[in-house]
Amino acid sequence: MSAVHADEDCDRPDDVSPRLVARMLDGDLTWEEWRQLLKLPRKDPDRVKKYLDALQVRVGWSERILMRISEHLFIVQSPAGRSVKCDCGQVFGDYRVNWKLAALVYIRDTAPSITEVYRCKDFAPEPGWSEIREYYCPGCATQLSVEVVPPGYPPIFEFLPDLDTFYRDWLDEPLPDAAPAWYADHTCRITASWRD
Ligand SMILES: [Zn+2]
Repeated sequence: MSAVHADEDCDRPDDVSPRLVARMLDGDLTWEEWRQLLKLPRKDPDRVKKYLDALQVRVGWSERILMRISEHLFIVQSPAGRSVKCDCGQVFGDYRVNWKLAALVYIRDTAPSITEVYRCKDFAPEPGWSEIREYYCPGCATQLSVEVVPPGYPPIFEFLPDLDTFYRDWLDEPLPDAAPAWYADHTCRITASWRD
């Protein structure tokens, strides 16, 4: 008998319970539990729902989470449409616009500022050729992303999911407001307006 099944306090990985998913999010699973999850003969058909439900109870707001896009950011169904929201409640706006445009940014473009975060100077980006951009949430000051790019390079749009295809074709649960217009990058509409 495995250590998982020998301990009555442990969940049974062949019954992926909400409690097990919550413990997974907490990072509390043992290696044996992880191993058994990886060896499940078939995946739970409702595994995405269980995962999103576990996330939903952790946040302090009620908008439905449609997808998690990073450790702290979610695409939610809000009255204004599909938006990006931080777990602290900060709203970044329409999910079709790169959320980084609404974040706080700290740029490291000098040798002293860059070597603050690179232990080995030989591997550090060279000022003038590259810069480090750190993006922070205006609501909770959590660091949300870091990118190393040439100066002037547009903020990298890390993830623009096709939510309608995912919910319709993979989950068999089409979203009520499904429309082709949802799957489009609107970032340039915002940046173009800044020229005026
Ligand atoms: Zn936040």
